[in-house]
Amino acid sequence: MLTITFPDGATREFEDGTSAMGVAKALSKSLAKKVLAAKVNGELWDATRPLEGDTVLELVTAKDPEGLELIRHDCAHVMAEAVQELFPGTQVTIGPNIEDGFFYDFASDKPISEDDFAAIEKKMKFIIQQNKPFEREVWDRDDAIKLFTDKGETYKAELIADLPEDETITIYRQGSNEGDWFDLCRGPHLPSTIKIGTAFKLMKVAGAYWRGDSKNAQLQRIYGTAWANQDDLDAYLHRLEEAEKRDHRRLGREMELFHFQEEAQGQAFWHEKGWMLYRTLQEYMRRRQIGDGYSEINTPELMDQKFWKASGHWDKYRENMFITQVDDEDKMFALKPMNCPCHVQVFNHGQRSYRDLPLRFAEFGSCHRYEPSGALHGLMRVRAFTQDDGHIFCREDQVIDEVKGFCALLQSVYADLGFDNVMVRFSDRPETRVGSDEVWDKAEAALRAAADATGLDVEYNPGDGAFYGPKLDFVLKDAIGREWQTGTIQADFNLPDRLDASYIGADDAKHQPVMLHRAVLGSFERFLGVLIEHYAGRFPLWLAPVQVVVATITSDADDYAEQAAQAMRAAGLRVETDYRNEKINYKIREHSLAKVNVIAVVGRKEADEGKLALRFLGERGQEILSLEDAIESLTKEATPPDLRK
Ligand SMILES: [Zn+2]
Ligand SMILES: [Zn+2]
Repeated sequence: MLTITFPDGATREFEDGTSAMGVAKALSKSLAKKVLAAKVNGELWDATRPLEGDTVLELVTAKDPEGLELIRHDCAHVMAEAVQELFPGTQVTIGPNIEDGFFYDFASDKPISEDDFAAIEKKMKFIIQQNKPFEREVWDRDDAIKLFTDKGETYKAELIADLPEDETITIYRQGSNEGDWFDLCRGPHLPSTIKIGTAFKLMKVAGAYWRGDSKNAQLQRIYGTAWANQDDLDAYLHRLEEAEKRDHRRLGREMELFHFQEEAQGQAFWHEKGWMLYRTLQEYMRRRQIGDGYSEINTPELMDQKFWKASGHWDKYRENMFITQVDDEDKMFALKPMNCPCHVQVFNHGQRSYRDLPLRFAEFGSCHRYEPSGALHGLMRVRAFTQDDGHIFCREDQVIDEVKGFCALLQSVYADLGFDNVMVRFSDRPETRVGSDEVWDKAEAALRAAADATGLDVEYNPGDGAFYGPKLDFVLKDAIGREWQTGTIQADFNLPDRLDASYIGADDAKHQPVMLHRAVLGSFERFLGVLIEHYAGRFPLWLAPVQVVVATITSDADDYAEQAAQAMRAAGLRVETDYRNEKINYKIREHSLAKVNVIAVVGRKEADEGKLALRFLGERGQEILSLEDAIESLTKEATPPDLRK
C-alpha cells in the first residue's frame, strides 16, 4: 500500500502503482478532470505516472503556474508534430517555454512564414482534439541515439549524446501507438493532448542559430503563446496590442523625441522635444534631491585602468566596459560604467569627521556599458545612459534613517510621476560575500525596517543581495500592468574599504563609512522609455515637451496669435505657433495626433475680444478664456508637482 499525504496534512492509503490521476479519481471525478500534473514530494510529475512509495502529493490544475507552464510546453510539442507533418524533412531541435509562451527551433530547407500559421494551427487543433495521451518511455542512451538518427533527427541525436552520464533518457509519445509522434523530453507532460485546450496562437517566426552560435546552422524559430482559457488569451493579445500602440520607439519617432542610428548603436540622439522632456525630468529630480540634502557633483568619464583595478571593476566587470588606449601603448583608460568609485574620490579629498556625516552626493552621471547589439532595445537597453545616481556616506548608526529617507523620496517622486502601484523587493546576503555576519545583520535589519516603513508590498528575495551588501529594489506597475524595476538602494561595506575611505570618529580614531548606492529613476533613458509607454505619449502638462500650440483660423489673426504666444512664453509655458494656410480642423487633428496638450484656437473674433479658445487633449473639451485667465490657469497646471503650493 501507498500512504499519500495531502497539502492539508490529511493522509490516505492507496494500492501500489496508483498514479496521481488515480488518486484524484478516487477523491472526485470533477477534480480528476481538472488535474494536469502532480507535485510528488515537491517534484513535478506526470499525473499518469505510477507513484513510488509514500508520497506527499499536490495536484496541479490550470490554475497553478505549473499547470499553465505544462500547457505551453505541450503546445510546443504539438506544434512540432504539426510542423513536421506539414513540412516533411524538417528536423526538430529545441523548444523551451519563455515568458507568456514558448518557441521551437526547426531545421528545414523550406522557409516557414507567418502565412503558414493558419495551416499549422489547424493541424495543431486536430492533434489536440484527438485526445492522444502523452506516454513517457525510458530509453537506453545508445538505443535513443539510434532511434533519432534513423528518423533523420541529427540534432536530437547530438543532444542525447551530450546529456550527462547519469541522466535518465525519456521520450514522450503523443499517442499509444508505435507510429505516433515522439520527442526527446525530460517531461513532465499533461495527461493528454486535449488538456492543452484551444487558447493558443502562433505569434511570429524568426531566425536562430543551433546552440545560439552564428557559426552553426541557421534554424527557423516559431514563437507561440498559450493560456488556460480563451479569456486569458484575449486579455494577453489585448495587452500586446496596447503595448504596441505605446511602444516608446514608435512614439519617439512619431512625436519627434529621439532617434537611433547604426553609427552610434545603443545611444540616443535626443531631438528638441525629447531633450525638453529629458531636461524637465532632470530639473525636477535635481530640485527633489537638493530638497533632500544632497549635494550635486560631477566626475570624469574616462579614467586610468589602475583606478578600475583598485575598485575591482577591472576584474569583475571588464567585459562590460569600453576601454581605450591613451598616450603610450601600455596606458589603458576605461569609460566609467558606474559612478561609485568616482564619488569615493570626492569623499576622500580632505579629512572627513563623524560630524560631516551623512554626506549625500548626487550626480547625473553619464555612464557607458557594453551591451551586445542583439540585446539593445530602444531606450530600455542602451550603451550610453545617465543615471540619477547618488551615494550616501554615513555612519552605521545612520543607515536606518538614511534608507528610510530615501524610500520616502522615491515614493513621493513616483507619485508625482503618476505611478501609484509600487512594490519593494528586499534581497539579503548571498553565499559569496564580503564583510562579517555582524555587519550584515545590522544592514539587513536596517533595510528591512525601512522597507516595512514604506507601507509598500515587500517581496523577500533570500540570498539575492550583492556580494558587498543587501539591497532594496523598487518595482513599479505601469498603466497596462507591466512591471518595471527602476529604483534601488544598496548598502556597501566593501568599496569604502577597497578605496580607503575613512572618517575620524568621536573617539579620534579612523572609521570606515557605510556607503549607500541609490538611484530613484535608475537611468533617465530607461525611465523615460517607461514614462512614454505609461502615458502613451500623453504627458501631464508639466512634463509635456510642447504644452500649447496657438493655431490660427485665418491669417488676419496672426498678429494677435503671435502676441498671445509671446505672453505665454514669457510666463514660462512651452508654446509653438501654427499660422499655416490650412483648415483649422486639419490643424487640430494634426496637433492632437502629436499629443499636444492644449491647442489655443485664434480667429478674428478671439483677436477682437482678446480671448483664446482652448482645446484640451482627451475628453476635456473646450474652454474660452481671456488671455490673462488662460495664462494664469495654464501656468498653474504646468507647475511641476513639487513646486505647487
Ligand atoms: Zn516535453
Ligand atoms: Zn554606486
